[in-house]
Amino acid sequence: MIEKIECAKCPKVVCDSEQSLKGPSNCPTKVKSEVIKRAIAKYDNAEVREFARQASIQEFEGYINLPEGRTPRNPRVEEVIQFAKKMGYKKLGIAFCSGLKDEAEILTRILENRGFDVVSVCCKAGAIPKETIGITEEQKIRGPGSFESMCSPITQAEILNSEGVEFNIVVGLCVGHDSLFFKYAHAPVTVLVAKDRVFGHNPAVGLYQSGSYYRKLMRKELLDY
Ligand code: SF4
Repeated sequence: MIEKIECAKCPKVVCDSEQSLKGPSNCPTKVKSEVIKRAIAKYDNAEVREFARQASIQEFEGYINLPEGRTPRNPRVEEVIQFAKKMGYKKLGIAFCSGLKDEAEILTRILENRGFDVVSVCCKAGAIPKETIGITEEQKIRGPGSFESMCSPITQAEILNSEGVEFNIVVGLCVGHDSLFFKYAHAPVTVLVAKDRVFGHNPAVGLYQSGSYYRKLMRKELLDY
């Protein structure tokens, strides 16, 4: 029986070396060769290949070799711009959470300053009541009896699709809402801001603090479904 693939627990990480076949017994480089072959064949598509090539060049350009060592040099917002230019995109879409309207506005200004045509859509566009998807009065954030528009990432995707954007940028969509946006958007999507209401939209802080102030994140639970 093939063991479960668990790169995240790998003690060796030899896959970025010439010793790539010396990984653990469950190393996908060794035990998933057919799947890997099928995956790599997808790059035969010229469009996919070019997208991947430019993404790797973007990765390369993320560092500068200084006398004191290799140093990262671009904030993500700059990288999004650089990548969009590499791909020759002119029209960009922003799908943002209403709670990050200010950030979306600043991003729009930055992108417009850099020459892009920018279309942005708020998650509440359409103003469809939450009852439409079965949300109860008790499940409303502002409390029972209030009007709340549902977040509709599908609406955001369809509007941006209808505008013919070439590249989408997600700004703070909720967990799950972002998944639907990825599913329904036609143009490729990148994430500029991953919502984290506690850690200032830097979810990695939860991981960094899981051994100290947020140790509770490590508690053991059983799935009861
Ligand atoms: S691909 Fe193999 S060597 Fe690389 S992290 Fe996964 S298990 Fe480790």
